[in-house]
This record gives sequence, C-alpha cells and structure tokens, in this order.
Amino acid sequence: MLVEPTNIEFGGNGAFVKDNENLIIIDAPEEATKKLNDAKAFDNINNIYIIITHSHYDHVAGLGILIWYSNFYLKIKPNIIYSKNRFKRTLNKLLKITGVHDNLFTFIKDNEVNLSFKVDILPTTHSKGLDCFGIMFTDNTGKYYYTGDTNDINFVRKLNDEKEVKKIYCEVATETYDVHIKYDDIKDLDKEKFVLMHFDKIELYNKVKKDGFNVGK
Ligand SMILES: [Zn+2]
Ligand SMILES: [Zn+2]
Repeated sequence: MLVEPTNIEFGGNGAFVKDNENLIIIDAPEEATKKLNDAKAFDNINNIYIIITHSHYDHVAGLGILIWYSNFYLKIKPNIIYSKNRFKRTLNKLLKITGVHDNLFTFIKDNEVNLSFKVDILPTTHSKGLDCFGIMFTDNTGKYYYTGDTNDINFVRKLNDEKEVKKIYCEVATETYDVHIKYDDIKDLDKEKFVLMHFDKIELYNKVKKDGFNVGK
C-alpha cells in the first residue's frame, strides 16, 4: 500500500509565516533550510518557531539541518511548538538519535507562545500509529487553518462553512490512500478560501490550477 505518496518533483511539504522579527516554520522537509533561505525567510528575524505536524519523513527529514543552521549560522536557538506531550517526546527521540543535541532547541507549548496571533495545534487523523496535527492560527481578522496531512474530510468541509475561517491551506491527493484528502471530495468547496498543497501527482497539480484553485508554491 502506498501510505505516503510523496512527489519527488515537488519535494516535501511545509510553509512559513513571518510575524515581525519572528519566523514560524511549519514542517521541515528535506530541502527546507535551502528553500527558506532562497525565499529570504531568514532575513531580519530574531526568533524561530518550528511546528511539526507529524513525523512522516517528507515533513521532518530536514529538521536536524534546520536546527543546526539556526544555531550555527543564524545564532538563533529555535523553539519547537507542540501541543501533546507524547509528540514532544517523539521529536526529542528523533532529534537525539540523529545527533541534534537538546541544548540546540527549546520546546514551547502552543498556548504559551507569544506572537501577534494565536496558535492552536489540533490533533487530526492521518496515519495509524502516528500523532498528527493541523494548525489553527487566529488573529483579529479571523482564523487560518493549515491541515498538515489529514484524511479528516468532515473537519475540512466544516471549516469551509465557518464564516470566521478565512483560509484553509489544505493537502489533497488523487485518492485518499486511506490517509489523505481526495480532491474530488473537496472540489465543490469555496475556491477563494482554499490553498491546495501536497499533491501526489503533477497531473493533479495541473488539474486543480485549471479548476481555479490556488496552490502552494
Ligand atoms: Zn504524512
Ligand atoms: Zn506528507
């Protein structure tokens, strides 16, 4: 079974948000540090926050490099934002066995983060045996949701109907493969609200653009 279809043309999946001197990075795929650098994400920042949605390789393969780069090149010790203690222990273990010493990062709970918006890391369903999360950002303009990887189609459709939800950064795939959102199950939803990402196939990427959806870069 194809559990985690990852398209090597696109690379892994992640995002970043800049909030004044704060850089918030969501997931760290293999080439994250280089791509963030190319996008000038590290310019004029003093703090780095990292949120990992789950421990599939296409979301964490570049985490150690990102932490090393932050410490040794940028001289910034990153904060890893988490909500569930068990997942904090998972990340700690992953970093430890890959040689990333725990004095190079700090863990901070989502409800203790001090940014100009609220961060809520919410459990979702994706892959059996893994803790997986989506992220809700809330500011005075509304709510913005990043799905991470998920197969919770009902939650995505519910967010589509909520007025205060302004944007949904949503993963899609050609099929659910039991772990993803199938494009056909959301293609009737509000195109203005969605930014689609994490495509399993180039053909799907081309199709959703042709259908009028925004796509992640
Ligand atoms: Zn995944
Ligand atoms: Zn993934």
